[in-house]
Amino acid sequence: MKASIILVGTELLSGGTVDTNSIFMAEELNKYGIEIKYKLTVKDTIEDIMIALEFARKNSDLIITSGGVGPTIDDITKDAVAKFLGKRIIVDEEDFKVMKQKFDERKLKYTPNNIKQVEKPEGAVSIENQVGMCPAVYVDDIVSFPGVPSEVYDMFPRFLKWYAEEKKLLIDEIYIKDLLVYGLGESYLDQQISELFTEEGIDYEFLVKDFGIIIRLQGKNSNKNIVEKISEKIYNIIGDNIFGEGNDRLENLVITKLKEKKLSLSVAESCTGGLLAGKIVSVSGASEVFKEGLVTYSNEAKMEKLGVKEETLKKYGAVSEETALEMVKGLKTDVGVSVTGIAGPLGGTKEKPVGLVYFGLKVKDNFKVEKRILVGPRNKIRERATLQGLFYLNKMLKGNA
Ligand code: ATP
Repeated sequence: MKASIILVGTELLSGGTVDTNSIFMAEELNKYGIEIKYKLTVKDTIEDIMIALEFARKNSDLIITSGGVGPTIDDITKDAVAKFLGKRIIVDEEDFKVMKQKFDERKLKYTPNNIKQVEKPEGAVSIENQVGMCPAVYVDDIVSFPGVPSEVYDMFPRFLKWYAEEKKLLIDEIYIKDLLVYGLGESYLDQQISELFTEEGIDYEFLVKDFGIIIRLQGKNSNKNIVEKISEKIYNIIGDNIFGEGNDRLENLVITKLKEKKLSLSVAESCTGGLLAGKIVSVSGASEVFKEGLVTYSNEAKMEKLGVKEETLKKYGAVSEETALEMVKGLKTDVGVSVTGIAGPLGGTKEKPVGLVYFGLKVKDNFKVEKRILVGPRNKIRERATLQGLFYLNKMLKGNA
């Protein structure tokens, strides 16, 4: 089966907004074996949307639109779809009631133009929007979603599940296994695993995410065992860098392990300036294990709050193995992480280049210092250092049963 995606929004063409919806959609469609034939980006005009619909209709079985379904005058995607199909636009009474209730519950001011959000081409099926106001609507193999990414993430998987059942797509035929890797590049990974894929119909791809790289293994359900065997072999080769599978994320894994082991955590940050604590706190229930995060940016703070010795700072510098170790030793919880590095772009030297980061790690009485040279602009280095710290901590917690 083939699908085309029509992205509606002048801001997507002018560069004001980066399209991320179609990336998410592509990954979901992939799970159902639906191929994306075309992605078309158009302005918010009936004429342009109609041209895209005509083209997509000729070249695909399913048309997905995103954007232009809100309450304002330039939200005309559903009008264009209705016109294209020769259908009337109607108001869905049931959707209207649900929307009105949301306005009341959220104490939002309802204005008459909001009714546009529950309009749809006659005969269309609505997909409930659990995040925002406007349901997605489906009719004659055309489905229209809002542009707001969180609303797409909410509705798109539910729509696809429903659509696959409706069309009796043989979804059970596809088996997907996602291995999550941190700290290795795509080309290295490719070199390491490509020769494991000799069976026809068993493929892999790399999806680069801000939390690492997904190695997605995919085959027919009847080949599930072969996919699992390949996965085992991949673990044997690069298992040290595989931190999880599927929806696992480093911060969640760390918190889960700390809870299981009943260990408390605190962090001392320099170059990451609170990003590490922020990631930890993003996990619901982190308060059970997380005690505090200290941003000890200056030498004074490192000495005052963590007891780092003046002579250590003088002799080895703030970005050093010795300082990282003293920083983590200054934390009072069972488990601790310290991060000290040079985020740049200034401040690098030949011996201590931009991107050099030391991580101090403590799990009960075990201490360790790790060193990495990370690349990228200042804030990328800070983000990478945050994940790297979590990666080391996760690894150390795995090792300390
Ligand atoms: P609204 O009710 O806000 O009018 P809508 O469904 O009509 O919603 P748009 O107005 O087109 O959608 O976009 C809403 C928001 O979503 C905007 O901030 C826009 O920049 C963003 N957005 C739109 N399309 C995409 C896309 N393809 N990828 C990521 N963000 C998008």
